[in-house]
Amino acid sequence: TLGSSVMSALRSNSVSSCPVLTTFQKECSTPTPYLRNVADAIADDMRTGLAVQGGRDLEMILTYVDVLPSGKEEGLFYALDLGGTNFRVHSVQLGGMKERVIATKSETISIPQELKTGTSEELFGFIASKLANFVANENIPDRFRLEQGRKREIGFTFSFPVHQTSIDSGTVIRWTKGFKVSGMEGKNVVACLNEAMEEHGLNMRVSALVNDAVGTLAGARYLDEDVMMGVILGTGTNACYVDQKNAIPKLQSISSSSSGTTIINTEWGGFSKILPRTIFDQEMDEASVNRCEHLYEKMISGMYLGEIGRRVLLQMCETSHLFGQSVPVNLSTGFALSTKDLCKMQEDKTDDLLIVGSILNKVLEVEANLEVRMRVAEVCDTVVKRAGRLAGAGIVAIMEKIEKDTKRLSSGQRTVVAIDGALYEYNPRFRQYMQDAVVELLGDKLASHIEIKHTKDVSGIGAALLAATNSIY
Ligand code: BGC
Ligand code: MG
Repeated sequence: TLGSSVMSALRSNSVSSCPVLTTFQKECSTPTPYLRNVADAIADDMRTGLAVQGGRDLEMILTYVDVLPSGKEEGLFYALDLGGTNFRVHSVQLGGMKERVIATKSETISIPQELKTGTSEELFGFIASKLANFVANENIPDRFRLEQGRKREIGFTFSFPVHQTSIDSGTVIRWTKGFKVSGMEGKNVVACLNEAMEEHGLNMRVSALVNDAVGTLAGARYLDEDVMMGVILGTGTNACYVDQKNAIPKLQSISSSSSGTTIINTEWGGFSKILPRTIFDQEMDEASVNRCEHLYEKMISGMYLGEIGRRVLLQMCETSHLFGQSVPVNLSTGFALSTKDLCKMQEDKTDDLLIVGSILNKVLEVEANLEVRMRVAEVCDTVVKRAGRLAGAGIVAIMEKIEKDTKRLSSGQRTVVAIDGALYEYNPRFRQYMQDAVVELLGDKLASHIEIKHTKDVSGIGAALLAATNSIY
């Protein structure tokens, strides 16, 4: 990661030691045996979550997605995606087996901060109004004109933990990623959107309610039959996978058919055991709107990594005057250091760490000498490395479950993990750390059959496909 001369300077200890940094690095380290314990603990939680309904660290949510897109889907379908930094609307023209996806159109709208913590009427009103604009500007080919008495159907990607009661209904279990919308306790998410759409005069209905990880898996699977897992590494993090129905105890009481497969949404962000949490993680959690929840997510995902780094740097300033006698004002401001900048500093390959220097200058308005830049780069690397390796342990836990039930890997069958999200997309070092952890834990042989693939923006298509698969017409 770091330029070679920097690395050797660090190794030869020419950078005088900084106790805060040393302790932080020590507490964040994730050697293989420890990571193995993490993967095993996740696997334990998966088992409990599959046995009983709700209230567990890993909810292991039944998604009611039993039928994955086949390729035969035809018609014009929509997808709405809510739950990260942006809100997106897609329209997808599906042409069946021969033509597949004919055309897509999408629009990205950033979500005003106040809507994330406002009322459900405000949030869904906003969504419906944006959707109305989008639909009004559309040119629909004749073959997709709506037949009398029908509504347009939508796949609604709602990227929060939802207790699903069917493919098109569910209630929010808890909010994550800085959202806390009031007035939705016990309310059906789909009903909230349907009501808002009606108020905006939209002739549309939701026919599938899906998590973004599930949308990613469905969209990726449409393009590649070997996809068995969908993972999001973006603002938040989550994973889902294809499970055998007969391996899901809690399903037996609900469903009459226990053959075939279904998708399980793990909500792995809620994992909380044996995590290498530092004082910085604890204090960040204390200040969050979802205290004591989604602790694994808070160590892995894009919303939080920059903030962890900022807190470490602040402490280094206060105890060892990292940037001279005074503490830069911005460093005392929550979330002033973005994960994007943290990752850029971590990836800086210039010998003099010039990128680190310019980011520190831009964000904190400080001039940092090489020694300071090295320390900052070390902080960033520590945060990113821990995140990547922990995410890798999660992937292994799920992969081992799939392997136990299907023996895919040991029989040499290619098995694909479809990943989306900005954290994964833009950070090669994060990807490498994650991949390393997977290989360390699974061994070269099994790991060689796993392909970790970046499937950008397929969740919109996935949700539209699921809307088609679950059409009431
Ligand atoms: C949510 C998940 C979601 C993930 C990625 C998490 O905070 O709990 O439902 O899939 O973020 O968007
Ligand atoms: Mg998203």
